[in-house]
Amino acid sequence: MVYLSLGSNLGDRFNFLQQGIDGLRDVAVDRQIQRSKIYETEPWGNIAQPNFLNCVVEFDYRGTPEALLSEIHEIETGTGRIRGSDSTVTQWMARTLDLDILVFNDVCINSEKLTIPHKLMTQRHFVLVPLAEIAPDLIIPGYLKSVRQCVDECQDICGLKIWKQ
Ligand code: ATP
Ligand code: CA
Ligand code: CA
Repeated sequence: MVYLSLGSNLGDRFNFLQQGIDGLRDVAVDRQIQRSKIYETEPWGNIAQPNFLNCVVEFDYRGTPEALLSEIHEIETGTGRIRGSDSTVTQWMARTLDLDILVFNDVCINSEKLTIPHKLMTQRHFVLVPLAEIAPDLIIPGYLKSVRQCVDECQDICGLKIWKQ
């Protein structure tokens, strides 16, 4: 099973999340995707930007982590997300759609292009809270802790509330 985090804080946020889920359905085994509730969350890191809508999805995937990364880049670009080395594109800026790979089966990778499990996932309530809905007992590879334990220990103070069931 793979777990991805989706976020949007620009334009029609719900529509962009929906586009993300539809795109992932095209790569998921049997087009089966499970999604958490959608949360409205205060921005983490760079706080001078609009609130996000966030959710987490789970699905089965047959390709490699690198192949999934290029699929998600394509889906993000399809929503009009601008990325690149342009100096106006800064870290954690507002975006139409962001897809992050959280967990990919029991894989641990730390390369230039890819860190799995996602390096900041245990520091983010907007990731852990929705993930705990669909996989509370999942042990995050390399952390030796369940998602539920990570939620209890997470110090993140950014607010979040349920936006849609
Ligand atoms: P953060 O990763 O802190 O949430 P971000 O999502 O804003 O930041 P991006 O600009 O979307 O960062 O991604 C930058 C690069 O991060 C991607 O091009 C990709 O190569 C790399 N990356 C590393 N690990 C992952 C991962 N687990 N999922 C998605 N991208 C990853
Ligand atoms: Ca991200
Ligand atoms: Ca990302």
